[in-house]
Amino acid sequence: MHVTVNFDRCASSGTCVQLVPDVFEIRDDGYLYLLIEEPDDARWDDLQEAADSCPTEAISISDG
Ligand code: SF4
Repeated sequence: MHVTVNFDRCASSGTCVQLVPDVFEIRDDGYLYLLIEEPDDARWDDLQEAADSCPTEAISISDG
């Protein structure tokens, strides 16, 4: 699976970091970093929840 973040939309709310901390990280500069762009397919439900929970709809996930 593939994860993308629209960083122009991200408001650094931290919601995704709380849900999936091995994939999303907010660093000292206050910006979100995507640690893994192609997580294992087994993480689909976790990342779907993160995408659904993002207040600015900045997270997209897709097959492949
Ligand atoms: S949940 Fe959305 S707005 Fe919040 S840090 Fe993650 S990508 Fe950014």
